[in-house]
Amino acid sequence: MTTKAIIGARLIDGTGKKPVDEAVVLIKDKLIMEAGKGIDIPKDAEVINAEGKSLLPGLIDSHVHICSNGDPNILSSLSYRKGMMQLFGYRNGVNDLESGFTTIRDMGAPYDYGLSLRDAVRTGVVKGPRILACGNIISMTGGHADFHLPSGISFDGMSRLADGVADCRKAAREQLRSGADFLKICSSGGVMSPTDPVDTPQFTVEEIKAITYEAACVGRRVASHAHGATGIKNAIEAGVTTIEHGSLIDEEGMKMLKEAEGFLVPTLVAGWNIVEHGLESGIPKYAVDKADEIAHEVRKNAYKAYKMGVKVAVGTDAGTPFNLHGNNAQEIIHFVDMGLKPMEAIVAATKTGSECLGLEKMIGTVEKGKLADLILVDGDPLKDIKVLGVKENIKLVMKEGTVEVNRGI
Ligand SMILES: [Zn+2]
Repeated sequence: MTTKAIIGARLIDGTGKKPVDEAVVLIKDKLIMEAGKGIDIPKDAEVINAEGKSLLPGLIDSHVHICSNGDPNILSSLSYRKGMMQLFGYRNGVNDLESGFTTIRDMGAPYDYGLSLRDAVRTGVVKGPRILACGNIISMTGGHADFHLPSGISFDGMSRLADGVADCRKAAREQLRSGADFLKICSSGGVMSPTDPVDTPQFTVEEIKAITYEAACVGRRVASHAHGATGIKNAIEAGVTTIEHGSLIDEEGMKMLKEAEGFLVPTLVAGWNIVEHGLESGIPKYAVDKADEIAHEVRKNAYKAYKMGVKVAVGTDAGTPFNLHGNNAQEIIHFVDMGLKPMEAIVAATKTGSECLGLEKMIGTVEKGKLADLILVDGDPLKDIKVLGVKENIKLVMKEGTVEVNRGI
């Protein structure tokens, strides 16, 4: 394969270092060979002229639901054919990729659809971003991912309900058997579930410990959906690595998370969309009420945690109401609204994201030896972060050295 040379761009390499103007990035096969200034371009290189563009690492969304579409009522999934849900996953993945997100972490999809799509992309059967998938969500009975509705109707494709230490251990082993890259649990109530208050703890520390133990045995991590302070602290105490949402995290929880070198993925845009669209859009009242409780709190708390030194990563919760795949960069914009500098928000969506997923040796920065996941953007996101939110500005998306999207470069 010939070497590709991207020349003339402003390199924002994801490390947080000062940008490099008129940079050269050399790519051979899947890898970045060189990145920086004053690099010789091989004579036979295929040159990509990127003058006037910004070059960033491929963006990382650390929290999506790949088969969910952003319908106002999550229960609409009950009316879809199963095969349709898998196809939604394919289309949603393409939308993520086309907006510059070369890696996503699927936090729960029906049946084995997240895992299947991951494999289909990995083996080249379909186009899509790199996917890390958890399989089914492990939840306690009556917990956030228990889809038994008050009517008695239930949807059991999305989650594995588990109660007691032995059952939690078995549930973890089942997900690992099915090829999960990590495990997802729920250690507090949630917004999109009808009967569990958002701040109440779910699972005991002992139950969660059984799950983190099984995951650690095979080098896997556990992510926990957790809004309430107690559910967050229980999860960290039990060895969970990433706290999802973390809306009501208190100072003690922040300290614990920092000490554990864990991650917070605050999914700001998810609650925000629910509050903005409100009841009239068809979102159930229980969800609007619960989002009201957390949408502002999470911004304050995530910013405080960040300032305290907790690693905070960009994740959208795409698939929740009006939170569409393809609009993933909205979360980066929310990070800036929350108080981060544009450079810090970019790092949260690249380097920190790669660390959150445990892929920091492979992706997350534009540096020698990393996989060539990168994007070329029209405009300068350091001056105006909003340029990342417009799909047409993402002129080129490269994943592992292959151009996946080209909008006229
Ligand atoms: Zn989620």
